[in-house]
Amino acid sequence: MSDKSAKVSGRHSPPRHHGIGTRPPKVENFKDTLKRIWGYMAKQRRLFFFVIGIIMVSSLLSLLGPYLLGVAVDKVIADPKTSTLLRMIAILSGVYVCHSLSLWLQNYWMIGIAQNTVFDMRNHLFSHLQRLPVLFFQERQFGELMSRLTNDMENVSRTLNTSVVQFTTSIVTITGTIIMMVWLSPLLTLLTLTIVPVMYFGMKWITKRTGKYFKDQQKDLGEMNGYIEEMFSGHLVVKMFSRENKVIQEFEEKNNSLKHSSYWAQTYSGFIPKLMNMLNNVSFAIIVGAGGLLALNGAISIGVIVTFTTYSRQFTRPLNDLANQFNMILSAVAGAERVFQIIDEAEENADEKEADSIKQINGNITFDSVYFSYKDEESTLKNISFHAKQGDTVALVGPTGAGKTTIISLLSRFYETNRGKIMIDGKDIKTITRDSLRSQMGVVLQDATLFHTTIRENLRYGRLEATDEEVEEAAKAANAHGFIIKLPMGYDTVLDSDGKGISHGQRQLISIARAMLAEPSLLILDEATSSIDTVTEMKITDALKTLMEGRTSFVIAHRLNTIRSADQILVLNHGEIIEQGNHDSLLEQGGFYADLVRTQQNETLDTG
Ligand code: ADP
Repeated sequence: MSDKSAKVSGRHSPPRHHGIGTRPPKVENFKDTLKRIWGYMAKQRRLFFFVIGIIMVSSLLSLLGPYLLGVAVDKVIADPKTSTLLRMIAILSGVYVCHSLSLWLQNYWMIGIAQNTVFDMRNHLFSHLQRLPVLFFQERQFGELMSRLTNDMENVSRTLNTSVVQFTTSIVTITGTIIMMVWLSPLLTLLTLTIVPVMYFGMKWITKRTGKYFKDQQKDLGEMNGYIEEMFSGHLVVKMFSRENKVIQEFEEKNNSLKHSSYWAQTYSGFIPKLMNMLNNVSFAIIVGAGGLLALNGAISIGVIVTFTTYSRQFTRPLNDLANQFNMILSAVAGAERVFQIIDEAEENADEKEADSIKQINGNITFDSVYFSYKDEESTLKNISFHAKQGDTVALVGPTGAGKTTIISLLSRFYETNRGKIMIDGKDIKTITRDSLRSQMGVVLQDATLFHTTIRENLRYGRLEATDEEVEEAAKAANAHGFIIKLPMGYDTVLDSDGKGISHGQRQLISIARAMLAEPSLLILDEATSSIDTVTEMKITDALKTLMEGRTSFVIAHRLNTIRSADQILVLNHGEIIEQGNHDSLLEQGGFYADLVRTQQNETLDTG
């Protein structure tokens, strides 16, 4: 449950109200990560610096506007003529139009830069994922990887879109406003700035509370979603055990908890605009009151008061924005860091320099004293030696965890042996390129992985250039043609997202046809343990027989039938071959295998 809720809560973006006083997200190496993001942006550095230039200009224009307004007021007071007024209005309009235009342009270009940058990062990340070794995926949760590709990338994208512009604008505006204010009237500036400490502590008080409740809200939401997900997937069990009332009650508790945290999170964060508004009014009163007195004494002009009222607003807003932006940038950099961690993962070892690409193999396989361990401590496979002739069927038998899958993985070169050699047609597989080796192998696994596309395309995955006739030929040979043409769209039926939508047995038949189309010289089969109806089962057995004809096949076998007809049976236990031979000779030996066969009442050797 906790796993699930963590996964679900991960889908939601973080609360936007950070502000002063919240703890920023953890970033290990801010500078280096920023540099790497820059590495992707640098392609567009010219445009980027141009945009920064525009941001500066627009920030300066936003300072110029209020200043000119003050000047206009003074000018009109001194020389109250319509022409003066019109001239000042024309100049002011010009400034504001230019300001709006620059805002629009900087936004337009910055979004372009951000999207191109994230596009490159995403492509790099995804293509790198394709080159990572198998072990990488086995050690990680898919949900977590998905979150890096989607949430973290989205976070970077959103921040580049808006934060860069806002952050720069805020800094230029705050600095510029303070300089202008001090230049116009140091005393009035000092009085206006008295609200800054009040604002700081007020915001800190609020965000300290909102932070806690937003976190609770995320957690509660995650837990509630996790619970809903679990109840959806387990709805049959809930009904079978008549647990509806209990489920409703549990849901109500979670819902209540969410109501409480959301209520307080919203209430406290609702204070932020109220506080800002109040402080703005206070500063307005200070400027008008104190400024009025100063103006009466002739220390400043009325125009300066007008300018100050706008500047004070212009100055408190970015101050608050800055804290928000800084946290957003930190959280995006933290996201980028997680993306770069994957990009830094070592790729599958490159092929040895002298490795050859093979076109066709006969399929004579030799394991010569092979040792292998996943982790350093203990050997998973010990001293594995056997020889399979071209066209042989080798059945791998033994309890779960004995090492059957590992043998297959070594043969596919997902991992490298620690000691000993694996040879194909007398050639060490280390001297063969991985791609060409794998292209000679066909795989049919228990749970056939099919993709969300048409049946035709799924079949063609085995050989991309196969013609429609060849595809159908293979489907016929695999006993799949019959059921495919009965589907409403035939070969053009689109399978559901993970190949669902047809029965388990039918998926198996398609995956056999797919392997058949690839015409591999070496076959790897993981026999299904789950029961399939007898008719389909017969079709599968028959299809497999056709597929295995003349090909060297390794079968992780569960059915006595398959094992009985195998040319060679390797009985594995604790990573060692403990018995080796064919069905009859092994029975005669009266060892582990004979025991295994004797204890099975039915025709299935369910050894894992
Ligand atoms: P089988 O296919 O016979 O059930 P495996 O070859 O999958 O057995 O596993 C052999 C042993 O290696 C088991 O003890 C298993 O726990 C371990 N093992 C399998 N895969 C990994 C892995 N990716 N990392 C570490 N240990 C593994």
